[in-house]
Amino acid sequence: MAPISKECDFLVIGGGSGGLASARRASGIYGAKTIAVEAKRLGGTCVNVGCVPKKVTFNAAAIAEAIHEAKAYGFSVEQTAPFDWPSFKTKRDAYIKRLNGIYEKNLGNDKVEYIHGRASLTGKNEAEITLDDGSKQTVRAKKILIAVGGHPTVPDSKQIPGAELGINSDGFFDIAEQPKKVALVGAGYIAVEFAGMFNALGTETHLFIRHDKFLRSFDPMVQEAVTNEYERLGVNLHKNSSQTKVEKDEKTGKLTLYYKDSNGEGKLEGLDSLIWAIGRSPEVEGLGLEKVGVKQNERGQILADEYQNTNVENIYSLGDVVGKVELTPVAIAAGRKLADRLFGGEKFSTSKLDYNMIPSVVFAHPEIGSIGLTEPEAVAKYGKENLKIYNTSFTAMYYAMMEPEDKGPTKYKLICQGPEEKVVGLHILGLGSGEMLQGFGVAIKMGATKKDFDSCVAIHPTSAEELVTLK
Ligand code: FAD
Ligand code: NDP
Repeated sequence: MAPISKECDFLVIGGGSGGLASARRASGIYGAKTIAVEAKRLGGTCVNVGCVPKKVTFNAAAIAEAIHEAKAYGFSVEQTAPFDWPSFKTKRDAYIKRLNGIYEKNLGNDKVEYIHGRASLTGKNEAEITLDDGSKQTVRAKKILIAVGGHPTVPDSKQIPGAELGINSDGFFDIAEQPKKVALVGAGYIAVEFAGMFNALGTETHLFIRHDKFLRSFDPMVQEAVTNEYERLGVNLHKNSSQTKVEKDEKTGKLTLYYKDSNGEGKLEGLDSLIWAIGRSPEVEGLGLEKVGVKQNERGQILADEYQNTNVENIYSLGDVVGKVELTPVAIAAGRKLADRLFGGEKFSTSKLDYNMIPSVVFAHPEIGSIGLTEPEAVAKYGKENLKIYNTSFTAMYYAMMEPEDKGPTKYKLICQGPEEKVVGLHILGLGSGEMLQGFGVAIKMGATKKDFDSCVAIHPTSAEELVTLK
């Protein structure tokens, strides 16, 4: 092992959302001597192969939809110029590169020492870092944070021969030319977001789901409405499906996917891409967890308590690698709270993230916003008799100028509990839901009741006003 080459108060393994937030707060606010190690690109999943390039692509898809809809508003928009995927990708890549630079600069501003390399725990207060040139460096740290995130799960090629011919969400961002025909497998955030974007941009899109609906962790109203809407928008849904084999035509490079679905056995030929989006696994290989005895669950995720403590003293973990709520703002908030608790003195000695009532948005078509309990969860927790559920379904005014077949759905559900009708869940689907949810999230987090919602005068004409006038 390399001799001890550096010492610090706080060693952060992983320069993604959670790690960077924690490192910057520890050093920049509290002056802790902090080292952050990143094996790939600064910013982690969110910046490089997640939220950011995804949202930029979602914006492109939204513009494609607006171009289509512009006709209804009297514009004679000709669809002569197809979407220029390669030049869009070049710009998107350049934007991400700029962000990588900004993240590095921010670390410098907060006096965090940045090491590019792969870290592995070698002792309770020690890690070895393999640098880019293969040399090793050892760091001794009073406290260590493990914020190494995750990677896409892919199926076993033994079970689905040829599965390795498919790509995953990381590979999505490398696609150089717009595919004419794609298949996606999965039923969560990523599959639904990617399928919606491809379809809006004009790619023939096939989505393979194991059941008859997707986003099954969401409220049933959301599951049903968005599954129907995807079918209406022309996404080819293969329900109750499984995949049996993937083949590649070496001459054309095109893939054939063999599958079973509700209609029996089938094969889909001429695919430019097959994307597995069936969940994510923790990035723990070679991390040395077993060497120091850090406990993991059966999925390999690190076990951390509500204060982000692992079972090993002075080793902490948060973000996707603990897998509690896999969202960037959650990793950031947990990272900052941890830095407060570890380095902020007595005032912050009990600082921790409250994992309740975390709002989340799926950038689907249309957007979905959700906070709190789903209806089945609320019934299980409080009993049906102690709940009042408000539903509304309407056509947003944006669609007033459109033909019936071009009108998208808007559906809201408010779940209230007890005689005071405390809001315990809000589920919204429709145009603008992503931006809408944040403000309602503040109110709900503060304990808002139905009466509080009703006491706020509506903003007219908006879709959001329906949420303060529910009957
Ligand atoms: P990461 O951001 O993954 O960072 C971990 C870092 O650790 C990585 O950079 C990795 O290279 C590094 N690392 C791993 N092992 C080592 C090691 N041994 N040594 C050194 N470095 C190491 N969330 C949202 O809130 N909104 C969204 O819209 C959204 N969209 C998403 C879209 C996609 C396609 C994906 C995949 C995810 C999306 N997410 C979104 C989730 C979000 O990206 C993650 O929840 C978030 O990035 C988790 O942050 P983290 O710090 O835990 O891990
Ligand atoms: P998810 O966990 O959201 O969804 C994966 C789903 O795929 C499962 O729920 C399951 O649904 C289905 N699935 C699992 N195995 C298989 C299989 N073998 N064959 C077919 N389908 C399968 O994972 P994602 O990869 O979509 O996203 C990971 C996480 O990243 C998300 O949970 C989210 O926290 C975060 N994220 C957040 C975004 C946002 O905030 N907008 C966007 C993207 C990601 P079923 O049981 O119904 O089959």
